[in-house]
Amino acid sequence: MNILIMGPAGSGKGTQSNYITENYPVKHISTGDMFRAAIAEGTELGKKAAEYMNQGLLVPDDITIHMTKERLAKDDCAEGYLLDGFPRTLAQATAFEEITQDRPIDIVINLVVTVDQLAPRIVNRRLCRNCGAIYNTVSLPPKKEGICDVCGSELYQRADDTLESLQTRMEEYREYTEPALEHFRHEGLVVDIDASLSPEEVWHQIDEALRSFNDQH
Ligand SMILES: [Zn+2]
Repeated sequence: MNILIMGPAGSGKGTQSNYITENYPVKHISTGDMFRAAIAEGTELGKKAAEYMNQGLLVPDDITIHMTKERLAKDDCAEGYLLDGFPRTLAQATAFEEITQDRPIDIVINLVVTVDQLAPRIVNRRLCRNCGAIYNTVSLPPKKEGICDVCGSELYQRADDTLESLQTRMEEYREYTEPALEHFRHEGLVVDIDASLSPEEVWHQIDEALRSFNDQH
């Protein structure tokens, strides 16, 4: 089973990807990890990607897509893969489909969440400077305000965890990623998941969708 999980930043892709890989025999592929591995291995594509990344530039789509093709051909993806946040534009989606016809995406998990639902998660998020623990001033507050329960260090708010940045990211998502989603929907691959619920409830919906896919194939 080859899975693509899509959703705006903050919709819980990381958490749900962990649930999926714990419960299904799929290899989680993130573009960040893939770039780092290809660079460490010194592959031709890795060298090309490094040239862009060293200059602080985005790696062009054709390099990313060919690197993904090479990555998906490895043994650990033989039973299936889980792509996380890529392809995320229409151009990437169609190019990806063209070169991975031997390992096509079977199902697209679409985490649906609105700006209003995301805002409290993002705006109230606080992180520990020292150990990276994550809090929410409303739903998951530390015992002592501004101080990490785990290690006692100071908590901080990320500079882009604001309503304004969230709105910008959501507009970009609508403009660039929704067309890719509509393309996959047209192919009958998309399952919409209500991602406004708790992580466990979201996982329950995803698990149902994956089970029902397995039953039908
Ligand atoms: Zn801490």
